[in-house]
Amino acid sequence: MTATERRAALDAIAEEVRACTACRLHAGRTRAVPGEGNPMTEVVLVGEGPGVNEDRLGRPFVGRAGELLVRLLASIGWRREDVFITNIVKCRPPDNRDPEPDEVAACAPFLRRQLQAIDPALVVTLGRHSMSMFRPGTTISRSHGTAAPVDPATGAARAHVFALYHPAAALRAAAIETASFEDVARVPVALEEARRSRDGATTTAPASQPPEGGPALVDAPAHLPESDQLTLFT
Ligand code: SF4
Repeated sequence: MTATERRAALDAIAEEVRACTACRLHAGRTRAVPGEGNPMTEVVLVGEGPGVNEDRLGRPFVGRAGELLVRLLASIGWRREDVFITNIVKCRPPDNRDPEPDEVAACAPFLRRQLQAIDPALVVTLGRHSMSMFRPGTTISRSHGTAAPVDPATGAARAHVFALYHPAAALRAAAIETASFEDVARVPVALEEARRSRDGATTTAPASQPPEGGPALVDAPAHLPESDQLTLFT
């Protein structure tokens, strides 16, 4: 898929998300939050669902949890605009409750199609709900900081998945914040391993290369607005 085709596919998915009424969460949303980032990245970050700030702005991770996410990425020399960030449900659950299984199921086709369009080498899950979608049968306390192959049925046909705690959980507990910085330090190695496993081939030579070890951009990066604030609901 060319860069133009990939952007068009993601834009089309985003338009469908904004009009979606497939589950009860549509009734309480201010704005749906399809996700944002560089469509040509090798890395997709998947959180759980929009919080109050995300619902207000229609953008993922725009609050304190987002600020921490930016700091986590910066600790390995990455920028949020070098990756793609989305959630397993695109509309805010009321009172920041956990998404219900039927809501996750109703929204799953959007994430699957986003992953099919981007074809990432690495999916980074943020929090236990996202992790359980990609690594069922384990717990966040056991899997954080580790990688595993992704089931192609998720839409990521040739990827590994790496589990992180949700940044909002790290904001609530210093020990989890410390663990999160230790875990994210392993992400570049996980990306390298994921690249090697992709049909024995590495990524196409990038036209734009973020800091050393960062996700390769297969094409010039899409322009994205900088985010100033963030929050999440875990
Ligand atoms: Fe549609 Fe997903 Fe929003 Fe539910 S959460 S209304 S499935 S976009």
